[in-house]
Amino acid sequence: MKTDYIIVGFGLAGLAFARKLEEQNKSYIVFEDDSQTSSGVAGGMYNPVILKRFTPVWEATKQLERAMPFYKKLELQFNKKYNYPLQISRILKSVEEQNNWFSACDKPLLSKYMIPKISFEEIKGIKADFGFGNLQHTGRIDIKKMLDTYRSFLRKNEQLLEEKFEYEKLEISDKKLTYKGIEAQKIVFCEGFGAKNNPFFNTLPLDGAKGELLTIYAPETTITSLVKSSVFILPLGNHYYKIGATFHWTDKSNTPTEYAKNQLIRKLETFFKEPYEIVEQSAGIRPTVKDRRPFVGTHHTHKNIAILNGLGTRGVMLAPNLANELYEHLENGTPLRKEINISRFKNKVYK
Ligand SMILES: Cc1cc2nc3c(=O)[nH]c(=O)nc-3n(C[C@H](O)[C@H](O)[C@H](O)COP(=O)(O)OP(=O)(O)OC[C@H]3O[C@@H](n4cnc5c(N)ncnc54)[C@H](O)[C@@H]3O)c2cc1C
Repeated sequence: MKTDYIIVGFGLAGLAFARKLEEQNKSYIVFEDDSQTSSGVAGGMYNPVILKRFTPVWEATKQLERAMPFYKKLELQFNKKYNYPLQISRILKSVEEQNNWFSACDKPLLSKYMIPKISFEEIKGIKADFGFGNLQHTGRIDIKKMLDTYRSFLRKNEQLLEEKFEYEKLEISDKKLTYKGIEAQKIVFCEGFGAKNNPFFNTLPLDGAKGELLTIYAPETTITSLVKSSVFILPLGNHYYKIGATFHWTDKSNTPTEYAKNQLIRKLETFFKEPYEIVEQSAGIRPTVKDRRPFVGTHHTHKNIAILNGLGTRGVMLAPNLANELYEHLENGTPLRKEINISRFKNKVYK
């Protein structure tokens, strides 16, 4: 069997690259073994403002400009809704934070998103003595639904192999790659934190930050914006909400823990005062990088072996843009920008 590309991993990165290939009429096969869960469990928020310090997310406007049409096209192709625009209501904790909110609203990269007033409109069940700072042009992508639909599409077209990709079985030459009888021009690794096991790229400084979330059912509550304090309350509809998320730097398993559950409950109950029951707990490893920039590029020796990874905490906004940049690089030789290119690690760990 012959194909233009093999993609390993079908989270947000794999999907974004597959979609790019689809658009360009390239053939491809995807390997996915369900060893990582990050994209499937993620809140799916897109938000160009860092809510801790009221500073802009790196390249947020540019990323959103590409990401929004990308999700729209997928919605049209599959006739499904994935994008749920959602205001963010950040609980302000002091007069100082109120002042910081106003100062940030004036900044050129933030003024489009931050509404320059403090809202005291009541959200039933939420304690917010200093009011809310509200954000617009933000929202949530239902990543799980999008991945499930796309997987079905790939299955139908016999493009999905639901098995572990065994790195040592890849035969490499300059002209082609061969894997278990499949002949490909190029391979793109999109394994998220699973890249730790990838002998071609496992010297890259991929950290991994475990995140856990709860899904709660709160029948007496109707919250329509994402409420953000020490944790967020993300409305899913029908009185279901996601509560998240934790950060843990040493546990690299995808297993939910009692510790994280108690931490989320404790933080939630400092500002949420309505009855609720927990219906689910989920966990995943965010593929984070020390310098907080993604991994895009090709192997130092084998230029037909590429990586798309390091999406960190913001896969929704990053994936479509980076998939495009990697594609342009692989097919048209467009140089990759230094900030995203894995060649930035050449003199340190990536030899
Ligand atoms: C709790 C939590 C909340 C988050 N919230 C948000 C949010 O609100 N907004 C946002 O933008 N981002 C969020 N993120 C981050 C986001 O999920 C990630 O940036 C993104 O999902 C990374 O996508 P990925 O495709 O690189 O990796 P992954 O989603 O990990 O996908 C990699 C895939 O590769 C597969 N794989 C790995 N190795 C192999 C192999 N050898 N063979 C076959 N398959 C393999 C894995 O099974 C997996 O499906 C959150 C993450 C977590 C954990």
